[in-house]
Amino acid sequence: MAVTIKDVKTILTQPAGAKLIIVKIITSDDGLYGLGCATFTQRFHAVHVAIEEHLKPFLIGRDVDRIEEIWQMSMVNSYWRNGPVLNNAISGVDQALWDIKGKRAGMPVYQLLGGKCREAADTYIHARGDTAEAVVENIQQLQEQGYRHFRCQLGSSSSASSSMVTPTSAPEGSLTGAYYDRKNLMSSNLRLFEHIRCELGFAIELMHDVHERLHPTDAVGFAKDMEEFKLFFLEDVLAPEDNDWFRNIRQQCSTPQAMGELFNHPHEWRPLIEGRLIDFMRMHVSQMGGITPARNVAAFGNMYGVRTAWHGPNDTSPVGHAANLHLDLWAPNFGIQEWCRFDEQVYEMFPGLPEVRNGYMYANEKPGLGIDIDEDIAAKHPCHNEVINWTQKRLPDGSPARP
Ligand code: MG
Repeated sequence: MAVTIKDVKTILTQPAGAKLIIVKIITSDDGLYGLGCATFTQRFHAVHVAIEEHLKPFLIGRDVDRIEEIWQMSMVNSYWRNGPVLNNAISGVDQALWDIKGKRAGMPVYQLLGGKCREAADTYIHARGDTAEAVVENIQQLQEQGYRHFRCQLGSSSSASSSMVTPTSAPEGSLTGAYYDRKNLMSSNLRLFEHIRCELGFAIELMHDVHERLHPTDAVGFAKDMEEFKLFFLEDVLAPEDNDWFRNIRQQCSTPQAMGELFNHPHEWRPLIEGRLIDFMRMHVSQMGGITPARNVAAFGNMYGVRTAWHGPNDTSPVGHAANLHLDLWAPNFGIQEWCRFDEQVYEMFPGLPEVRNGYMYANEKPGLGIDIDEDIAAKHPCHNEVINWTQKRLPDGSPARP
């Protein structure tokens, strides 16, 4: 007799800064359930409603074994498709179904994908500081913990992920807030990487995230100027809206390009992969719809020499990190995994959250995704509704800008 979807539960929790959305699919087989990440932290209410009011009635009674069919039908069921809210909702369901299939098979999800290509996933970690000297110090501390890959940014918090400036030339009456100057961003980061290479040499691997803050022509010039520092990759040097400019970068320098955390739609990544215009695909697995599309795009990228570097900050839930890891262990074209380090409280809330030792992330070999949630602890950390501030940034003349 088929095991079917009996109930779908949406768990909202905020153990630290990020609001996390976990989907729990409860099956007709007593005690068998699966977990998936549907985290769209800035619009968590919208995803919650999409799951509870739209997907749940559509899913109840369906056969849990039919992951592919459920994914395909969920995508077209709304007729309009590939938006961030619905993709995240579908991802939560998709990942939970992979978790259930693994539990039913008695195997970790990476086995269902084709088995391991490696024992653990190499990670990169964020190194930051207000000055170039402080960034070097931070790298050295992280090296002592075994890390080998560092995403280096100026600024002491994630909300100031690159150097912010005090607007001295803003028009009268300009609003207060976070301002950045594109010329200053480029020159201060060139000085930063010169200092790091000078102090620490070329044996360590470095990344930098431009956070899509530059004009396209400046982005081309910046990628060229960074070439001498031999980056592992330069991330989001362009905005998705400026994808066509990658061709110019490719023609002018060999700085490896990483792109994709903002992508929702296959139209966004397909031309970049087919054209061999990027080196690393960085999609946010829940934002693209879950393990099912991520597996397909990884295999597609492998044919074009494009490697994976799935988005992995703290607004990917621990369940999402586990999903990333299973893809990483399998993918022949795995590149690197972003890692954010969670504190003890999060490990307590999510038993089985992957562990990182000497910079490598390991799976725990339990069936499915190998991760659980303590719902009592999660309930003690409800999500707070608030206006998001870090995505409100401005240019020196006061114009709103990409964060
Ligand atoms: Mg990024």
